[in-house]
Amino acid sequence: MRNNLLDTPIEYLKGVGPKRADILKKEIEVFTFRGLLSIYPFRYIDKTKFESCSQLHPESGEVQIKGVLRRLTMEGQSRRKRLVAKLRDDTGTIELVWFQGASYMQDKLVVGKSYVVYGRVNSYGDKLSIAHPEIEELRQANSSEQKYFAPVYPSTDKLNSSGLDSKGRRKLVAGIFAKAQASDFPENLPDYLLQKLKLIPRAEAIRAIHFPKTEKELQAASNRLKFEELFFLQLGLLQNKYGRQLKNKGYVFEHVGEVFHTFFETKIPFELTGAQKRVIKEIRSDMKKGVQMNRLLQGDVGSGKTMVGLMCMLIAIDNGFQACMVAPTEILAQQHMDSITGYLEGMDVRVDLLTGSVKGKNRKAILEDLASGDLNILVGTHAIFEDPVVFHNLGLAITDEQHRFGVAQRAKLWKKASPLPPHILVMTATPIPRTLAMTLYGDLDVSVIDELPMGRKPVQTMHKTENHRASVFGFLRKELEKGRQAYIVYPLIEESEKLDLLNLEEGLESVQRSFPRPDYEISVVHGRMKPADKDFEMQRFKNGETQIMVATTVIEVGVNVPNASIMIIENTERFGLSQLHQLRGRVGRGAEQSYCILMSSFKLSAESKERIATMVRTTNGFEIAEADLKLRGPGAIAGTRQSGVLDLKIADLAKDGIILQTARQLAKLIMDKDPNLASAANQRLKWWMDNYGPRAKGWSKIS
Ligand code: ADP
Ligand code: MG
Repeated sequence: MRNNLLDTPIEYLKGVGPKRADILKKEIEVFTFRGLLSIYPFRYIDKTKFESCSQLHPESGEVQIKGVLRRLTMEGQSRRKRLVAKLRDDTGTIELVWFQGASYMQDKLVVGKSYVVYGRVNSYGDKLSIAHPEIEELRQANSSEQKYFAPVYPSTDKLNSSGLDSKGRRKLVAGIFAKAQASDFPENLPDYLLQKLKLIPRAEAIRAIHFPKTEKELQAASNRLKFEELFFLQLGLLQNKYGRQLKNKGYVFEHVGEVFHTFFETKIPFELTGAQKRVIKEIRSDMKKGVQMNRLLQGDVGSGKTMVGLMCMLIAIDNGFQACMVAPTEILAQQHMDSITGYLEGMDVRVDLLTGSVKGKNRKAILEDLASGDLNILVGTHAIFEDPVVFHNLGLAITDEQHRFGVAQRAKLWKKASPLPPHILVMTATPIPRTLAMTLYGDLDVSVIDELPMGRKPVQTMHKTENHRASVFGFLRKELEKGRQAYIVYPLIEESEKLDLLNLEEGLESVQRSFPRPDYEISVVHGRMKPADKDFEMQRFKNGETQIMVATTVIEVGVNVPNASIMIIENTERFGLSQLHQLRGRVGRGAEQSYCILMSSFKLSAESKERIATMVRTTNGFEIAEADLKLRGPGAIAGTRQSGVLDLKIADLAKDGIILQTARQLAKLIMDKDPNLASAANQRLKWWMDNYGPRAKGWSKIS
């Protein structure tokens, strides 16, 4: 058997050589023939079509024309020389220009010959031209060869200037195919999958993705390769998940006992929602399996995640273990502390708070009680991750707003328990679209609270432009007179903190003019304040000492002031959808009807309009996340960037949801039946996973 051609180092490809090989390695990490083939085109030029010169206009974009070369003149001074040519077809002419390599082109081109030209139409005044077009002699005899979908590859300046632009790479790729045999592209999917899904063979698909002859062929190739990519990704994620479940034994929380029952029967101040009950059940059943739980709990703001978290901690206590709840900021930790001590009042459960600002004797006492086991629940910030914090027996660790903690930080939590790692529950209020969750958290268990507590009135959302400010403030005044409180939020512009403040300060002045002391008190909070000052202002607002909170987005996460019922967002067009959703979640937490007013300038981009319209249309976080995914693509969704899971070659999570779902289902079916891929029917899968499978390890070990 000959070696697989695709493993040949790229420098041995005809037309590459050591210098270009070096560039390919550095620029796009291509080391072998296989590497070059696995960079797929991101679009195709339809070279089956020709435009006519008379139809061209400044917005034509990239076009292909064929015609006769009419004039060829060098214009301009020596160093600014440019070659100007005219191409004429039956309908008119277009000018072609070369600034670089002008002399070379002058020698190469021949007036009177026919050419095929491809490039982008530019306009200077009313004159149209194409600079540096791709140009090729028209060969009547075999012109069908020139009619095809030409692949366009992702490129860089360096590649372009080394003859490794799309045109150059097309030749190289074609060179590989000229030498390759079908056996160089062994099939990696079992026949039963190919038949079931009507997928074309791998060898065919890879050739067609580079050089499709028809639209239909391209479709079939892309379908096959997208499925393959998503399927192996899911298979890897599920292998990880099952592997971890085998490896990581967990504490067995056998029973639900007195603490839980006492709380449930006598303390809980409301009826749990159906979703809360279901999720608690899911978690409970996880924690008694003897396998470490790794569960993500998604739930919109206000869906009651804290209560779920608390009740799970009570189960840990009932089984003789300690639990902790970690929040990303002091304010949030304090808030959890307040609500948890509130809920547990009168019960024999010891709860304490550990943050960076707990110091001295107080801190020492907490650490002692924690180590001795006197303390049942520790609430806090990342201060809990620090080394001197030692638990007696940590059984359950809950983290809130997961994407704010780094992986390394979270890994520390694992080490806080011995002999086994604690059960892990991660709570997030950032809804993630299903397709994304399947991939990002494909190796985790996911619970969703998809129901808000009864009697919540959905926040009414309105869009107002700057010229309606007087009426917006009038409305605000009326609500404040009823005793409500309001947030006015300004965007944070990361590139310019100065501009932020200016924005906020100007806004603040106008708010102060409209809402003067002593009738109104205003709190101001922004990112450049010291944490202690921030907390102080937040606290005043929470206590009702101030009526209006003017802030940048620092209030985004988790702050709970039920009496605040108005959220005014300034420069709405500068916020992303998920941020807007988070901000709106700050209101609508009490019994009163709440309002969210989205202020913007009059002129808006299409995308801003769509974002605002989405906010006005729905309060459902999952719907909003889906819209965000469609508008901005998966890379923009919170928490996805660092994961690397989304470096997909061909599939697009925003568009290929159905393929993904199929891939996930089939991968699960296969893993359930044949977890080690040992059966004869699955040998191709095993071989592929062993040799080329996604290196999925540790992607989303959430804790
Ligand atoms: P999340 O953390 O999911 O945003 P919280 O746990 O802070 O939500 O709950 C928001 C508010 O709703 C809290 O004031 C909480 O007491 C209340 N709450 C939680 N569950 C229920 C329920 N089942 N019925 C009524 N109110 C609830
Ligand atoms: Mg919360």
